Amino acid sequence: MQPDFDPIVPGRVEWRAGTPEAPGFGDAYFSREDGPGESRAVFIDGNDLPRRFEALPPGALFVIGETGFGTGLNLLLAAAEFARRAPASARLALLSAEKHPLVPADLERALAGWPPLKPLSDALLDQYPPATPGFHRVRLADNVDLTLMFGDAAEMWRRQRSEIDAWFLDGFAPDRNPDMWSPRLFGQVAAHSRPGTTLATFTVAGGVRRGLAGAGFALERRPGFGRKRERLEGRLPGEAKPRHVRRGRALVIGAGLAGASAARALAERGWQVSVIDRTGIAAGGSGNRAGVVYTTPSGIATPQNRFYQSSFLHAARRLEHHEIERRGIGRLNGVVQHVTNARQRRRLASALASGHWPETELEWIGDDAVLIARGGYLRPECWCRLLLDHPAITFGKAAARRLDREGRVELTDGAAQTADAVVLCTAAPVEGTPALPLRFIRGQVTECRATAASRNWRRAHCHDGYLTPAVDGVHLVGATFDLHDSNPEPTSESDAANLAALKRRLPERWRQLGGDGIEIVGRRVGFRARVNDYLPVAGLVPASINGGGCPLALSLAHGSRGIANTPLAAELIADRLSGLPLPTDRAIEDALSPGRFATEPDPHRAPPPRAESR
Ligand code: SAM
Repeated sequence: MQPDFDPIVPGRVEWRAGTPEAPGFGDAYFSREDGPGESRAVFIDGNDLPRRFEALPPGALFVIGETGFGTGLNLLLAAAEFARRAPASARLALLSAEKHPLVPADLERALAGWPPLKPLSDALLDQYPPATPGFHRVRLADNVDLTLMFGDAAEMWRRQRSEIDAWFLDGFAPDRNPDMWSPRLFGQVAAHSRPGTTLATFTVAGGVRRGLAGAGFALERRPGFGRKRERLEGRLPGEAKPRHVRRGRALVIGAGLAGASAARALAERGWQVSVIDRTGIAAGGSGNRAGVVYTTPSGIATPQNRFYQSSFLHAARRLEHHEIERRGIGRLNGVVQHVTNARQRRRLASALASGHWPETELEWIGDDAVLIARGGYLRPECWCRLLLDHPAITFGKAAARRLDREGRVELTDGAAQTADAVVLCTAAPVEGTPALPLRFIRGQVTECRATAASRNWRRAHCHDGYLTPAVDGVHLVGATFDLHDSNPEPTSESDAANLAALKRRLPERWRQLGGDGIEIVGRRVGFRARVNDYLPVAGLVPASINGGGCPLALSLAHGSRGIANTPLAAELIADRLSGLPLPTDRAIEDALSPGRFATEPDPHRAPPPRAESR
């Protein structure tokens, strides 16, 4: 188990003549005279970025690391410079740690001062994460991703795996913030640098120079900006070898939530993606008419709980970005989680007390329920279709039978496809892929006709089961959790169990829906795939298992959390396959890795039962 992440204390800002200042540190976020001018001189020019961006070959990757994100001014300027000078096929990855993130209102006020950065600052404001510890992914432009790491800089960088091309060492002045400019931080800067890596900072303090020189950097003092006498530039000896984004043809097996998300994430990184599914788009486990966007908050910062939180927040951001409400796909207007037992009450109370779930995200409403603010509900099939609607994605109805190490996939109809990477997003067995200790848990949902009273319900409710607002004139009431039942046929017993749970937990809603006269208009059985540690299997199959051939990634075993899990799992996989910095810290990456089941390819994996509906 990992040590706890510290809860996040947002930055306290005082505004003086239009400049944000941090009274706790007695320092300003940027120059009082000319913020962008100083940022450009110290960090952009200090790392020679205009020339380096211009020299990038097509398809190159450039990575900037920062300590102290603050208002984001430095990195937004870097992204604007990249857009002006780098080839369109190149990618910029920005990684920044921030211990005390600004509250959104202060961020907005600061960014309002830089109109030329507007498209980038709008993207940042739209996706700015809540003050929860750990990594958050923000898409600033099609070819620019920002990974914001909320927590202490040295600690966050310890959890990173990426190598940096240029460092922005920002943070309040070393004499006002000595904790940050520590030997630990300099060690992390060294650990994430490579030959030719450069750094720039506004300070020439002795401790900083000694720390960076000790980390191997050749340093040079340069004339400072404005009233500052000097600034510092540094470079690790050696030649900087250009890096490329890996791209090619990807084959995604499975067109449910996991497959559609993976295909989209790859297409957005420049891959040509072919998606196949034996039954169609969102026809298997992701095939319910509606599903709930939710998570189970916890105050204990295990990698598992941190993944649940960050994947949920990431999913909500992606769904908002794609304007699901305007498109009639769903709504993110909050989910009401009803307390059903003492253990759950303690868990929710501890989540709130831990500081990991700020009140903006989770709050008690009454004695027996909490509101998960960014939750909601959606139509999974429409969401999958939206994700697959991209010029670089094609879809075909076909079933994979066998995969060989060269990336050749035999289909059950005798045809074959080859790819530079394969992503398996279905629990159905494919010969040549690793055996996993999968279990399949039957779940039946019951579709009930909306009534005059129920049509006005706006929010999804979760208890042991769930109830959605009306979608196409019906409410979904679900789902059974049948551990030892592989019956693919819907049964009246399962309907009765769903309605009994609704009556027990939400009696008023049960009554408004018709009570004993509730009209059942549809039902569907699905099978949740999961492994024994309840975490999904998401990541690259290690070469030791895969034989080192064509890269094979998995995104499966999402259980009943597919809507929340799959966008971040997809991002993780697409970044790994493309050779880009990851959206999660290393503990989460390891916790999800298929490598945790050290096993050989097994052609005898048991198939899941076929889902049926009627
Ligand atoms: N780069 C910023 C910009 O472009 O607006 C300005 C950064 S401001 C001068 C310094 C930032 O470092 C503050 O946002 C502060 O909260 C953050 N900071 C201070 N100590 C830190 C630490 N130990 N780890 C991470 N961030 C820290």
